[in-house]
Amino acid sequence: MVVKFLDLQRQYQSLKKEIDSAIKHVLDSSSFIGGAEVQKFEESFGAFVGSYALGVGNGTDALEIAIEALNLPEGSDVLVPANTFAASAEAVVRNRLKIVFVDCDETYTMDTNDLRRKISPNTAAIMAVHLYGQPANMFEIVKLAQSHNLRLIEDCAQAHGAKCNGQMVGTFGDIATFSFYPGKNLGAFGDAGAIVCSDAALLAACRQIAHHGGLRKYEHHQIGRNSRLDALQAAVLNVKLRYLDEWNTARNKIAADYMNLLKGIDGLVLPIIREECISVWHLFVVRILENKRDSIKAFLSNQGIQTGLHYPQALPSHDVYQNPRFVRQSPTPNAIAWESEILSLPMGEHLNDQALAYISRAIRDYYHL
Ligand SMILES: *Cc1c(COP(=O)(O)O)cnc(C)c1O
Repeated sequence: MVVKFLDLQRQYQSLKKEIDSAIKHVLDSSSFIGGAEVQKFEESFGAFVGSYALGVGNGTDALEIAIEALNLPEGSDVLVPANTFAASAEAVVRNRLKIVFVDCDETYTMDTNDLRRKISPNTAAIMAVHLYGQPANMFEIVKLAQSHNLRLIEDCAQAHGAKCNGQMVGTFGDIATFSFYPGKNLGAFGDAGAIVCSDAALLAACRQIAHHGGLRKYEHHQIGRNSRLDALQAAVLNVKLRYLDEWNTARNKIAADYMNLLKGIDGLVLPIIREECISVWHLFVVRILENKRDSIKAFLSNQGIQTGLHYPQALPSHDVYQNPRFVRQSPTPNAIAWESEILSLPMGEHLNDQALAYISRAIRDYYHL
């Protein structure tokens, strides 16, 4: 049996009629940049999050533009989790700001005790990343940002629809970003992203940066750039957004099944979700102790079970993220220790009971259970 880590083909087949017709509609209109589909997506995605949304080229651009619009003092520090995808850190450096890495706790999101310790007079902002689909500890992070007068950016690339205390991610900070990379919980058929912000003026500032420095064609008030959500991607996203809640519910059921099937295995640490959080389970990440991660990964692969590593190296383990030009050094021991233990099991609405039973049987076989 082959168990795919992710099955985009199957998802497309299940929506083929709707998606093909949406794409044909764009082709027939020849309205490829801007237009009705982009406007519709910005409205519906904004409504989904409970804020305003701007479509941009991808999730990395979204971060870069959001930070630029915040106008932080040049050379100031941004606190970034050590355990995240590189884009979160790139966006800081590309805005001529410095990264200070913050360690993660048992939930793999920012450790708020470490965050508190690392706030300094040079800190201008915190970037909270809702990693693997679970909201970061927003209760503490919002409190710290407010009491130290710091701006708060939320990287929601892995957490479309996740909630903390009933509140949607993307509505806690000054500004938030999403990615619609094909493998995300809500994915386009190529690169796409969004910036979400309840402050209409700040979102307009982002739109101006992303549209060559002006809100109207051939008006340039600043040095801008080009980063747009295109109409074909918006058309695909308009179809898929209608299914997002259903898919997130399916992921939650799969996670609950994994928790049951894999409980009580010595040497395998199951994910921890904070009580006040609803995760959307972008990834189901376990930790494999006793130096066995690579051998269990190979064992599962031999049985057709695809797994992933998110991420093979924590950001501070990369040479470039030790360069003092970009990073103010600070220890992140958990992120470093866990990079050789984490293992992402298959996750997505493509998994049925049979696949889950097969995966858990294989893992138990590995442990001779
Ligand atoms: C995917 C991702 C991004 C970047 O999004 P792209 O659309 O691929 O540019 C940023 N941050 C995190 C945490 C991500 O997972």
